[in-house]
Amino acid sequence: MAVTPQATPADTRLDVVTHWIGGKDWNGAVERWGDVYDPATGDPRARVAFAGADVVDAAVVAAARAAESWRHTSLTARSRVMFAFRDLIERRKRDLAEILTHEHGKVLSDALGEVTRGLEVVEFACGLPELLKGGFSENVSTDVDSYSIRQPLGVVAGITPFNFPAMVPMWMYPLAIACGNTFVLKPSEKDPSASIFCAHLLAEAGLPDGVFNVVHGDKAAVDAILAHPGIQAVSFVGSTPIARHVYETGTRAGKRVQALGGAKNHMVVLPDADLELAADAAVSAGYGSTGQRCMAIAVVVAVGDAGERLVPRVRERIRRLAVAPGLEPGAEMGPLTTREHLARVVSHVEQGAAEGAELVEDGRGLTVSGHERGYFLGPCLFDHVTPEMTIYKDEIFGPVLCIVRAATYEDALALVNGNPWANGVAIFTNDGGAARRFQHEVQVGMVGVNVPIPVPMAYYSFGGWKSSLFGDAHVYGREGIQFYTRGKVVTARWPDPKHRGVNLGFPQME
Ligand code: NAD
Repeated sequence: MAVTPQATPADTRLDVVTHWIGGKDWNGAVERWGDVYDPATGDPRARVAFAGADVVDAAVVAAARAAESWRHTSLTARSRVMFAFRDLIERRKRDLAEILTHEHGKVLSDALGEVTRGLEVVEFACGLPELLKGGFSENVSTDVDSYSIRQPLGVVAGITPFNFPAMVPMWMYPLAIACGNTFVLKPSEKDPSASIFCAHLLAEAGLPDGVFNVVHGDKAAVDAILAHPGIQAVSFVGSTPIARHVYETGTRAGKRVQALGGAKNHMVVLPDADLELAADAAVSAGYGSTGQRCMAIAVVVAVGDAGERLVPRVRERIRRLAVAPGLEPGAEMGPLTTREHLARVVSHVEQGAAEGAELVEDGRGLTVSGHERGYFLGPCLFDHVTPEMTIYKDEIFGPVLCIVRAATYEDALALVNGNPWANGVAIFTNDGGAARRFQHEVQVGMVGVNVPIPVPMAYYSFGGWKSSLFGDAHVYGREGIQFYTRGKVVTARWPDPKHRGVNLGFPQME
């Protein structure tokens, strides 16, 4: 949803996306603007206001004011807002998905899937009254009771990546808000409209002004969030170098931080696996969303003779993929999101070929008729990739799948465990014992057994290990509630005649 603030950018023909602060569009001065493109056409679509420290401060002031009453609002009232928001998203999900397709490029069916997975967290947040229940122990000492409660932190912030403009913010704000916090979201500047659309739906759902705020921008906005003393906690999702920066800077400033980073997800295929299933999974998880998923499969590790039998099956499926603009019926894979990213992915393909990997499917020649300026790249498949190659070591984040051959299960496991990223991993096998051994031995946060993209449901939590997560709390689920609240334990005795008199001894329970 594009809105028009008083301060307009130079090119007035374009839609304008501005900040959402205190329940309304920002109408103050805008010093810097960014461009938003439609990746299927390469045409500019909107201009987005970039926040500096002054705008971030205005958002924090609005959020802090709202926090004074929001934290005292009853659990019932807070969860009712979530129920209403859930219904609005359900009704408007096609509109939201179209926004995602227009700005991110992902095909509509995939965009609808993104909305649905985000909605699951909203549904989880609807049950907050049950989830926030504390413990109670009667008579921990004679006539003394103890109970534990969890309370909101205050103003918290979320900083999110371009690849899931609706879902990743929904991993954060529904739980943070339902827990009684107020929220400042800094979405990706590449596809910013989905968060404004959701801000309008939250307002329609009855969320008081200032509880949810959106500031757009780049590093300047992020650094202002990290430095702001009024922000108690930061949830970040994005690439590993920025995740590290956010974690180090935020914690140094005394904030609670969870920072999820990049990924290089492996799919181990054992020789006994159902290879039709494995080939379906490798192609779906490798090329879905044009490879721009943090849980995309980037590397297939084919064990023993599995590679010889798997590669032809994967190639056959790749050749049938429909690469087209995301709103076109039947489209399976859309463009990459930005021109710069397209150039980066193509240069990885060139480097992979130069380093000696076998480029068995080359998507570089693809043109989509009528969309020659769109950021399209056809699916690329490299075979005989080795761990020293750049295409193995770097996160490519595009439609480029690498096949590494491993002689044994032990070699495959060592490869996965030796990788600095550890977001998701999958094993394909019909041997229950091998799968069980793998899930026990692998050093990765989310594991799939014959499931290539094991994104946990909202009532579990999402998070990788090693360079895929800085901090100790995963997002959403019970760990999300833990992250957005502080524990308090009350020990209470009501005055009675038995317990009187001075006693300097350390209190002990009797
Ligand atoms: P990114 O790190 O470039 O950007 C993420 C956020 O940080 C954006 O809001 C951006 O504006 C901001 N940012 C960018 N550069 C910055 C800088 N120098 N200083 C401060 N802030 C900065 O990531 P992206 O390109 O938007 O998203 C893709 C990356 O996100 C991939 O690495 C992908 O694996 C990762 N990702 C991870 C997960 C996960 O759950 N682990 C989920 C989605 C995406």
